[in-house]
Amino acid sequence: MQHRTSRSRTRHRRAHWKAGAPALTACTNPACGKATLPHRACQHCGFYRGREVVPPTGGDA
Ligand SMILES: [Zn+2]
Repeated sequence: MQHRTSRSRTRHRRAHWKAGAPALTACTNPACGKATLPHRACQHCGFYRGREVVPPTGGDA
């Protein structure tokens, strides 16, 4: 006899592995304000928590 598939197993199958919608927050830089990932430096201006922490254009000039 086959066992009942738990909700956990059902939802962990490969068919359910697709990523959800990415979480986005507005950039803290007033001059930018674009949507960016939370808890990361802004992808557009490099700001994080009110100061610039990475160069806006990749950096390796
Ligand atoms: Zn920004």
